[in-house]
Amino acid sequence: MAEQKMATALKKYELPPLPYAPDALEPHISKEQLTLHHDKHHQAYVTGANANLEKLEKARQEGAEVDMKALLKELSFNIGGHVLHTLFWPTMAPAGKGGGGKPTGALADRIDREWGSFDRFKAEFTKAAASAEGSGWAALAHDALTDRLMIMQIEKHNVNVYPNFSILMVLDVWEHAYYVDHRNNRAGFIEAFWNVVNWDTVNKRLENL
Ligand code: MN
Repeated sequence: MAEQKMATALKKYELPPLPYAPDALEPHISKEQLTLHHDKHHQAYVTGANANLEKLEKARQEGAEVDMKALLKELSFNIGGHVLHTLFWPTMAPAGKGGGGKPTGALADRIDREWGSFDRFKAEFTKAAASAEGSGWAALAHDALTDRLMIMQIEKHNVNVYPNFSILMVLDVWEHAYYVDHRNNRAGFIEAFWNVVNWDTVNKRLENL
């Protein structure tokens, strides 16, 4: 009885809604591209992570063995995908309505201190995104140990992640993020992204550390 009660109280992962209309980022990201990315690709990681957890829970209930190595590898991939996409959507806003331009406030000061200029930061972040091997991400993260900002280049959703850093800003450069709008042209998508970066969100994440 106690076990059953515990099981019903456990939360599952859920797909968060987009924080804007699916056509709000046009012309930089099309409605079709954004809808597929959110409704199909992000959803797949939510479904996958929940399925991995259910498999673990079922094995626990039955006292059965699982292939722990394979299952945890999949779980890391799926949770990574879900967490990064959840950070990604609010990292963007419609161009001219919160999206694009340059950072201001504390974030701008931090970027200047670390990179010398916004242009240098933008160039490094762009290069990290462009050169992520296969499918991956570029991220701007904060290291609590040094109180510094650093760029992270993530492969898949979970490789090369710096443990316990706080991610402030992410750019998804999986081909599924741009195949409708740019076919295989990742550089074109990265260029489009800079028009819709929501610097206010990034600043708020920095403030809330
Ligand atoms: Mn994606």
